[in-house]
Amino acid sequence: MLTFWKNVLENSPDAYEKAVRARDARIGSFLEFNPTRHLGNAPGEVASAEKHAVLAGLPFGVKDNIAVDGFRLSCGSRILENFNSPYHATAVQRLIDAGAVPVGKTNLDEFGMGSSTDNSALGSTTNPWNEDYVVGGSSGGSAAAVAAGLVPFALGSDTGGSVRQPASFCGVYGLKPTYGTVSRFGLVAYASSLDVIGAISTDLDVLQAVYEVISGADPFDQTSMDPVPSASHDADAAGVASLGYRGKSPCLGVLKPEQLELSAEVAETYQTCLEGFRSLGYEVKEVSLSMLEYVAPVYYTIATAEASANLARYNGVRYGLRPDYAENPEELVRLSRDQGFGAEVKLRILLGTYVLRSGFQDQYYLRAQKIRTAIRTDFEASFGEVDMILTPTFPRQAFRHGGEDMSPFEQKQADKFTASANLAGIPALSFPAGVPKGLPVGMQLLAPAFGEPRLLAAARDYATLYKPELAPGYERPAGEQ
Ligand code: GLN
Repeated sequence: MLTFWKNVLENSPDAYEKAVRARDARIGSFLEFNPTRHLGNAPGEVASAEKHAVLAGLPFGVKDNIAVDGFRLSCGSRILENFNSPYHATAVQRLIDAGAVPVGKTNLDEFGMGSSTDNSALGSTTNPWNEDYVVGGSSGGSAAAVAAGLVPFALGSDTGGSVRQPASFCGVYGLKPTYGTVSRFGLVAYASSLDVIGAISTDLDVLQAVYEVISGADPFDQTSMDPVPSASHDADAAGVASLGYRGKSPCLGVLKPEQLELSAEVAETYQTCLEGFRSLGYEVKEVSLSMLEYVAPVYYTIATAEASANLARYNGVRYGLRPDYAENPEELVRLSRDQGFGAEVKLRILLGTYVLRSGFQDQYYLRAQKIRTAIRTDFEASFGEVDMILTPTFPRQAFRHGGEDMSPFEQKQADKFTASANLAGIPALSFPAGVPKGLPVGMQLLAPAFGEPRLLAAARDYATLYKPELAPGYERPAGEQ
């Protein structure tokens, strides 16, 4: 696969562009696609260039809430529809320095708010496995582009599951790194204490290289840091061939499926998956995660509170949509926001301002912060007993467009497995585990902070039993050349 990707851009950019456009006409993963704009970039000086040679020459997609110089930065919103980025996000710059080439911007739920990508104001994206179904969200364009073989990897952002959930709906890998290990410079803020840039790919070598390249402290983001290495993590990095970084078999924590409200297909795949890990020599132990039922309400309280503050900057004055006429500054702000934001974004701003209202803070926001701490402690206690926790990524497979078979409220409740990792700040990886009835199912592995090597090693192990495939009917865009 990789030899193909390395040559495609350099040798035949026109054929590549044509092939991608033809395929993407059906899926709609890109909001902007221009594979030659950044083709001439000279790779920068990177200490680890040799180690990450796998990335050299690879085209990649970037979710349209992450800045790429010269491309748009719309966040899937009318309010930023015509906004172009004047600089690269640090994660993008580092990938360019490693020789990879950003080729376009992918569709998303407006400002990252949603689970389907149907909340985008600027385009519709559909699941390459079955066009009647959503692609997941909010990084749906990135997941679809990878699953359809348009790019070997793509960047997304994950505030409550937005890298992992679309990855699971599309049958590809999605990694949400430890909070703070990837610079947020150039990532448009949704909920700053939860946001992290992550990566989506069908290839674990690529996924690992992307993570290693984009992670690490950045002077432009004072909250960023280097991953903290530890003896056990070094052993993790050596891979699972060694099975057992603690001198024993790795131990997976699993949840009682009956309590999880899973669809029959997801429950069955969860069972098959943990049997698979057993057959690979993993120990499996039940953990309770008693705080799981509070994850969705706590996540939506904190995320909307932070979003209402972060989105205050879109006021029609500094940038973005501005109405043709306004009587006074107040009306200018009101009209810009009224015309610029979609319904879901308005709903969340209202919710966020409500939970932050004076007199209500104790009841909602502060209480949510306390439960957030309890959720983190719950994980810490579990990680005293097990090395990783295995859950489904989402309680069910992709749902149909239009919300008929899954209401927006049900979609929010279903974020409990993914959003738990954001609340605790820990890393999590969604990996493909089956395609019952023609739609992919992803499983999620969670590890303690800085445990990415452990997650990747376990996914490599599982790939000996089950390997992801591109969506049927899609191949790398080589056919037309
Ligand atoms: N479904 C979550 C939400 O709507 C996903 C958010 C995200 O990770 N950007 O908030």
